[in-house]
Order: sequence, then structure tokens, then C-alpha cells
Amino acid sequence: MDKQKIFSNLNLFKGDSDTICEDASIWIDGNIIKYAGPSSEFTNTSHNIERVDLGGKTVIPGMTESHAHISYTNNGPLELDKTPIEEAMIKTVDNARIMLGSGFTSAISFGSVHRIDVFLRDAINSGQIAGPRLLAGGRDICAIGGNADTYPDHAKPQTEGLAMITDGPWEIRKAVRSLWKNGVDVVKVMIDGELISLQGRPGDLGYKDEEVEALVDEAHRKKMKVACHARSAEAVKQAVRSGIDFIGHANYIDSEALDLLIENKDRVYVGPAIAWEMAFLKNAEKMGYKSDSREVIEYQKELEETISSYKKMKEAGIKILVGGDYGLDIAPHGTYAKDLEHYVNLFGFSNAEALHSATSLGGEAMGNDGLLGTLEEGKLADLVIIDGNPLEDITVLQDHKKIKAVMKDGLIYQGLTNKINPYLNENL
Ligand SMILES: [Zn+2]
Repeated sequence: MDKQKIFSNLNLFKGDSDTICEDASIWIDGNIIKYAGPSSEFTNTSHNIERVDLGGKTVIPGMTESHAHISYTNNGPLELDKTPIEEAMIKTVDNARIMLGSGFTSAISFGSVHRIDVFLRDAINSGQIAGPRLLAGGRDICAIGGNADTYPDHAKPQTEGLAMITDGPWEIRKAVRSLWKNGVDVVKVMIDGELISLQGRPGDLGYKDEEVEALVDEAHRKKMKVACHARSAEAVKQAVRSGIDFIGHANYIDSEALDLLIENKDRVYVGPAIAWEMAFLKNAEKMGYKSDSREVIEYQKELEETISSYKKMKEAGIKILVGGDYGLDIAPHGTYAKDLEHYVNLFGFSNAEALHSATSLGGEAMGNDGLLGTLEEGKLADLVIIDGNPLEDITVLQDHKKIKAVMKDGLIYQGLTNKINPYLNENL
């Protein structure tokens, strides 16, 4: 028989409503939740069950980081492809542990350097290392001169680069097949560019429609999901029309793009990854951009556009995920929960709505037979035990000391974010 556990004396955010149930209990059998609800409606008198009094702590479903780059090594945004594979692999193992320890039990990859994600996912699934459930990414797919084709031909670095530079429907299909052959779950494609990129900027579409359609068709044929970088309205339209599943950024939404998103709102997920703009604007001077530089002025404008776009999408009921390009020097691993605070401060989310984006919606986006994202009978036992109440203070999720334990698949992890002896066992 699987090991059973009962947590009691806890405040429960189940993820299926906006409220917290005070004085709740959770009964876990192996990796499955058998009960989660008011203690008054729960009786189990069996003597063979481990019982833990949580002393009034809050329990929420495990969160999903939906725009993850676990293999990014906290370096500069223009140096992502310069980390040698040996260093990237070691740091990725560390990043995965920190992500789980931060309360994120699932992650949807928006791209991996080298072929790290697939090996990472398999090592996590086999129990060799600690980390979130992962939909693994591969190297990006990007047109010549697109957002991840970072160098002119005379200045290519020695590494293989962030992206597979691939043009034309059949070449793109070949690239997708090669990602599939190597075990990838999510294909990431660069649709348009970036304000600090040397080449394409937002609105510069690297691919013709038929190329993106070929990419999505091939990926879906192989049962893979497709994620994209799409900032402009035109990029978002190409993404939606081509059938892309996860749209990253979507900063500049016009009425046509909004209508398309509404028509497809049952199947498409968006997410701003706003931590990048916020961190850039905060650190621009340090990064060598003056406060009146073109870049700072344009990113300021992009932030304003993003705020108005996301308010419109939220109003229209578009599915908005939490996740934010963490893994850069200015937005390092471990700070993922900052996203929820941004959603509250910038986009008018209530604390409960931000939590829903991170938990129930993120769990739904992961797929996994609908077994993730809420704490209900029959679901997988992924949860976070917090010393504090995120419905009252959403920033409590950013404080690693307040994350008392994380359960994934019925296993309890503690101290994962500690620098030294991360598996140190503390009392709940
Ligand atoms: Zn990204």
C-alpha cells in the first residue's frame, strides 16, 4: 500500500475558487489527493497514517512556470548562447532544484540551450535530481535574420547558438522532426523580434504564414506543443492563425488580434513574460543604456502597451499564464513568483486571480490528463506549504524562507533553495 499522510490545521486555497478554507485537512495516498477540504467534514480514524499539524500555514496547489528557460544561466540577455554546454548543464541542475524549491512544481519550456531540457526532464522523472515536472524544449526555431539569429555571419561564436536557423516549409519540418527525434515536448519558434536585437524588432516577422503553418502542422502531427515569441499584433495574428498553443509576450494587441484570440480562447494560452521589461527598465543604466536612450524609451512604451493589451485580454477571458523568461542576470532563477506581484500591480489581477494563473490555469496548460493545478480528490499531490497568506500578501510567495515545503508527486522537499546542503531537513 502506498504511504498515506494527513495534513491538518491549515488554510487551504484549492485553486477551484477564489477563497481560502480555514481549518482544512488534506489526505494524501501515495501521490494522489484523497481529500482536500474543511476538517469538519473529514473523518479518518485509521492509526497507520502519518499526521502532520501545519499550525495554520497556507497550502496552495503547486505553481506552473509557463515560460521557462531552466538552462539559461543567469547571464546577460545578449549572451544566452555563450555558456559552454558543460557549465550550462551543471547550472541547469541547480536551477531546476531552485525552481521546485520556489513552489513551482511544473514548467513549460520556452526553449533550451544545447539539448539540455530533454536530459533534465528525464533525470527529474527518474528521481535522480530535484526539479519541476517539465515539458522539455529544444533549441529555438528561427528564420535567417530572426530574433535568435544573433550574429552577423563574420562574427559567429564557437557554440551552436540558441536557435536552429531554418527557412522554408520543408527545412522547418526537418528541424521539427529532429527536435522530436531528440525527445522534445515543446517546439519554440521566433515569430518576431525584440527591441534590443540587432536584427528583427517587434513587428518584423521572420517567417511567411506557410512556414509557421508547416512548423505547427509537423509539431502537432508528432504530438508536440508549439510555443512562440510574438510581440506585435501581426505576430500574434500569425501565431493564432497557425494554431500555436502558447503565445509568449503578445504586447501590442489590436482589435483584430483580440478578436482572433477570443475566437480561439479555448485552446490558446498567452503570457507576457513581463519580468524582462520590468527588469530591463530597472537595470538599464547598469546595462549601459542611458535613461533617454532609444531602448529605454521604447521599452517604457512597450510596458505601457503591454498593460493595456493584458487588461483587454483579461477582460475578454483569454487564458493568461504566469511565467517570465527568468534565468537572466537581471531576472535570476528563484525569483519566478515576482510574476504574480506584477500581474496584481500592472494588469489589475486580484491576488486570487494571479494565483489561479499560476496554479489551475498553469496545471491545465501542462496537460497531464487534467490531474494538475488544483487540490481536489483524485488529483496529483503537488502543493506548496506557505508560512503566510498569499491572498492577503502576494509577495509572500517570493520569500524562500516562507516556503516551508513543496510536495511534488507525493514527495516532500524542504530547503531546496538553500545554497548549502539544499536537502537539509527542517521541521514543518
Ligand atoms: Zn523566452
